[in-house]
Amino acid sequence: MKKDFKQVWENCLNIIKDNINHQNFKTWFEPITPIKLEDNVLTIQVPSQFFYEWLEENYISLLKKTLKKELGPVGRLEYSIIMDNSYNNMNPYTIKFPTTNKKATYNPSIAMPIDLNKGSSKDIPNPFIIPGLKKIKVQSQLNETYSFDNFIEGDCNRLARSAGFAVAKNPGKTSFNPLLIYSNVGLGKTHLAHAIGLEVKNNFPDKTVLYVNSEQFINQYIDSVKNNNQNDFIHFYQIIDVLLIDDIQFLAKKEKTQDVFFHIFNHLHQKDRQLIITSDKAPVDITGINTRLLSRFKWGLAADLQVPDLETRIAILEKKLYKDGVEMPRDVIEYLAYNITSNIRELEGALISILAQSSLNKKAITLDLAKKMIDKFVKNTSREISIDYIQKIVCDYFGLPLEVINSKTRKREIVQVRQLAMYFSKKLTKSSLATIGLHCGNKDHATVLHACKTVNNLIDTDKQFRNYVEELDKKIVL
Ligand code: ADP
Ligand code: MG
Repeated sequence: MKKDFKQVWENCLNIIKDNINHQNFKTWFEPITPIKLEDNVLTIQVPSQFFYEWLEENYISLLKKTLKKELGPVGRLEYSIIMDNSYNNMNPYTIKFPTTNKKATYNPSIAMPIDLNKGSSKDIPNPFIIPGLKKIKVQSQLNETYSFDNFIEGDCNRLARSAGFAVAKNPGKTSFNPLLIYSNVGLGKTHLAHAIGLEVKNNFPDKTVLYVNSEQFINQYIDSVKNNNQNDFIHFYQIIDVLLIDDIQFLAKKEKTQDVFFHIFNHLHQKDRQLIITSDKAPVDITGINTRLLSRFKWGLAADLQVPDLETRIAILEKKLYKDGVEMPRDVIEYLAYNITSNIRELEGALISILAQSSLNKKAITLDLAKKMIDKFVKNTSREISIDYIQKIVCDYFGLPLEVINSKTRKREIVQVRQLAMYFSKKLTKSSLATIGLHCGNKDHATVLHACKTVNNLIDTDKQFRNYVEELDKKIVL
C-alpha cells in the first residue's frame, strides 16, 4: 500500500512533538511542509537555508529516527528550501539528505542575494522598525560623519584602515572576512566600521548594509524570543550583504544570542557576504565567547587600532576644527594633543568643552583657558603629564626647537635643556629612568640619574638656574 506523504509526516511530527519542548517544536517543525514521498524519500519544504542548517545541526538524529520508524531502514529525507519569496523566482531547490552533518551543496544560481533596497515586495519583519509601521527598506544605521574622509590615517591605524578600505571596495570577496577590528575604547573602531559601511554604500548603492551594535542585536533577539518570531529575526539578518557588528564583547556569556549569531554568521559567510566585527580585545583575549564562534573570528583578518602618535592627534583635532569651521590657536591645539594621549574621544571632548566655554563666556580661546578646561576635563580621567609635553615646554621656554633634545650636540645650553627635560620627567611622570632616557635623546638610565643630580646641584648653587626651574615647574604643572 502506498503511503500518503502527509500522513507520514504527520506521524513523524507526533513522535517529534513528544521528544522536544513545545517552543522548539513550534519554531522548527510547524513551519515545515511535506511535499512528496517517492521511492521512500520524503521531501519536506523548509523556509530557509538557515532553517535547514539548524535542523541538521540540532534535530538530525531525531529526524532520522522518526523517519526510519515510519518508512523503515530505507527511508530517506530530502529538503526543499524556499528561496525568499521576494524574488520572482519562486522555485524551491532541493538538497539531498546528507549522510553526514556536513553542509549540503546547494545550487547557487538559485540562491541569489536578496536586495531589499531594490524594492522587493516580501514583507520581511525588520527588527529595526516598530511593528505596525510597514517599511521594508533596511535602514543602514550609518552615521555620515564617520566617513573615511574624516578618518585620519596614521601609523596607529594604517592596517585596519586599508583593510577596511579594501573590504569596502570588494565586500565579501577579499580574504578579510570577517574583518575584526579591535582596540581600547575611544580609538576609532566605531568610526571605522561606519566608514566601511558608508564606502560600500558609495561603491554599491544596491547592497544592503547594516550597522548594529551588539547590545542592540541582543535586545532584538530577546524581543524576538518574547514575541515568538525568532525566525523573522534570523531571516532579517540573513538578507544583509554587509553586516557591521560593533562591540562584539557584549555577547560574552550570552550563549543563546551567540548561537543565533553563529548561525547568521555561517549563513552570511557561506554566501560571501561581508562581516565586520569590532571588539575591545584581540581575539586571543576575548573571553565568554563560545570557541566555535571565536574560531570563526579568526578566519579573516584581525587588525588593531593603536594609540595615535602626536602628529595624528594634532591632525585629528585640526580636521575636526576645519570641519566645524572653527579656528583655534596652534599652541592650544598642541597643548591638547600633548596632554590627552590615549583616547581620541577624550581629546575631542576636551576640544568641544573649550569651544563651548569660549563661546558661552565670549572669551578668546587662549592657552590659559585651555589649561583650565583641561584640568577640569582630564582630572577624573587621571591626567598625566607626558614626557613629550615636558620637552616641548622646556624647549619653548629657552626658544629652542624640539629637535635639540634628540640631537647629538654637546653644546652646554643644549645639554642643560636635555637635563632639565629629564629632571622634570623624573619628577612629574611615572616613567622609569630607562624610559625617560629613551625619549630624551636615546640615553641610558645612568645618564638620566646624572642629569637629575646635576639639576638638583644647580638649583642649590645657581640662583638664576633656580628661577628657571621654578618658572618651568609652574608652566608644566599648570
Ligand atoms: P571606539 O569605537 O574605538 O570606542 P570611536 O570610533 O567611537 O572609538 O572613536 C571615538 C572618537 O574619535 C570618534 O568621535 C571618532 O570620530 C574619533 N576618531 C577616532 N579615530 C579617528 C581618526 N583616525 N580620525 C579622526 N577621528 C577619529
Ligand atoms: Mg565604539
